[in-house]
Amino acid sequence: MAQRPLTWSRRLIAVLERGLPPALLEDHEMRRRALLIEGTAWLVILACALTVPVILATTTGIGRITSLAADLGTMLLTFVGPGLLRLRGTPAAAGHWITGCVFAGTLYAVSTTGAFASPYWILLAIVPFLAAQMAGRSAGHLWGAICLVGVVALFAVDRFTGVLPQFHDPDLTGSTTAIYGAMTILAVHGLSHLADLAKDEAIARAEAAAVQLEHADLEVERARILAQQAVAASTAKSAFMATMSHELRTPLNAVIGYAEMLVEDADAQGLPDMRDDLVKIVGASQHLLGLIDDVLDLSRVEATKLDLQREQFAAEDVAREVAEALQPLARTRGTALEVRPPAVPLITQLDRGRVRQVLVNLVGNALKFTARGRVTVYVRGEADGDAQFVVFAVEDTGIGIREGDHKRIFEPFTQVDSSPRRRYEGTGLGLSLCKHLVEMMGGTIGVRSQVGQGSVFTVRLPVAAPGRSAPAAPDAAC
Ligand code: ADP
Repeated sequence: MAQRPLTWSRRLIAVLERGLPPALLEDHEMRRRALLIEGTAWLVILACALTVPVILATTTGIGRITSLAADLGTMLLTFVGPGLLRLRGTPAAAGHWITGCVFAGTLYAVSTTGAFASPYWILLAIVPFLAAQMAGRSAGHLWGAICLVGVVALFAVDRFTGVLPQFHDPDLTGSTTAIYGAMTILAVHGLSHLADLAKDEAIARAEAAAVQLEHADLEVERARILAQQAVAASTAKSAFMATMSHELRTPLNAVIGYAEMLVEDADAQGLPDMRDDLVKIVGASQHLLGLIDDVLDLSRVEATKLDLQREQFAAEDVAREVAEALQPLARTRGTALEVRPPAVPLITQLDRGRVRQVLVNLVGNALKFTARGRVTVYVRGEADGDAQFVVFAVEDTGIGIREGDHKRIFEPFTQVDSSPRRRYEGTGLGLSLCKHLVEMMGGTIGVRSQVGQGSVFTVRLPVAAPGRSAPAAPDAAC
C-alpha cells in the first residue's frame, strides 16, 4: 500500500500516541478513546492555563486566591488522567477521571461567578459529550445525569439559600462570556475533529487488514492447488513405476529361466568356462530382479495399493528362516550370523511375508556393511500398558553410520556414500521400503549407530496388525 503523507493532524496523533501501551493501540476502538483522552487532557490543561490571566483580570482578594487554587488544582488533577490510562491499560477509568475534573472545575467556576448568570455555565453542556467520547455511551448517560443533578442542586442552593459567592466582576461579564464562548467552540471543534481523525485511522487500518486477509486467502488457495498437483504428480509417478516394474519383470524372468537352462546344458556338455559365465548372468539377473521388486513394492506402498495379509506365526521362526537363507552370504563375508530367540515362543498375527522382507533387508545390510565381524538378530516381546509388541533388533559390528545420517537413510534412494567410487552396491531403497512396511503394520523402525563400532536397527511391531486373514491371496504382480 502507498505510504500516505504525514499531515499535521497525523503528526498530532503520532505525538498523542507516544508512550501509550501497545495493547491499547491494537484495538481500533480503544485506540480512538485513548487518543481522545490524551487530547482532552491537554485541552483542559491549556484551558486552565489560559484561565489564569482571566482570573487575575476579573477577581480580587479571597475570590482570586480560591479561584486560582481551584484552577491550578483542576489542572494538576487532569494530569493524572493520562497517567491512569498508561497504568490501567484501558480508557474507562481515565475517561471518568478527566470528565470528573472538568465537571468539578466547571461547577466551582459557575457557583462562584454568578450561578446561572456565569459565563462558565455553557461548559457544563460538554461534560456528557466528553464522557461519551472518552469512556463510552453509558459513561455519557451517567455524566449527563450527574450534570442534571448538579444543575438542580446549584439552582436550589442559589434560589433558596442565596449563599453562593460572587468572585467575578459583573462589569466584565460580557468580555469573559465572549472569551469562554470562543474557547468552548474551539475545544468542542478540536475534540470532534480528533474523534473524526481517530475514526478515519481505524477505518484505514480495518481496510488494510481486509486486504491482507484477502492476500492470505489467495495464498492458501494457491498452496491448496499446488498440494493437489503434487499429490496428482506423485500418484502418476507411482502408477508409472508400478507398471514399468511389472513389465520389466516378465522378460527378466525369461532371461533367468533360459540362463538356468543353459547352465544345465553347459554342465551336461562339460563346458565349465561357459558355465561360470552363465552363472554370473543368472546372479546379476536375480540381483536386478530384486531391485525391480523393491521399486515395485515402494511404488505400491506410495500409491497405497499394497494389501497386508494376516497370519499366525512365531516371530523367532521368521528370524531363523532369514538367518538360514543368508548364512551363505555371512560365510563369504567371514561374519558370524546368529539369532537370539525369546525364552518362550512369541506368537504374532502379522503379514509373515512382509516381516520376512523387512528382516532380509536389515540382515542383508548388516552383512553387507560388516566384514569378519558378528551379526545378531534379537527377538523379544515388550508390553506398553495393554498393548503387546514384538521387537526385532539387528545388531552388527560393521562400519557404522554417522549420527547426521541416521534420519536420511530412511528416505528413498539415499545412501550414506553415493559417490561413483563407493564400495558397497545398492539402490538406497531398502530402508525406505522397510520404514513404509513397518509403519503400514502399525510399528516403528529406528537406528542406533556409531561410526567404526557398528549399528543396531530396531523394529517394533504390534503383536497383531490389521490385514486380510490368511491364507494369503497370491500376489498377481510378483
Ligand atoms: P542400499 O540398497 O544402499 O543398502 P538401504 O536403504 O538399505 O539402501 O540403505 C541406505 C544406506 O544406509 C546404505 O547405503 C548405507 O549407507 C546405510 N546403511 C544401512 N544399513 C547399514 C548398516 N547396517 N551399517 C552401515 N550402514 C548402513
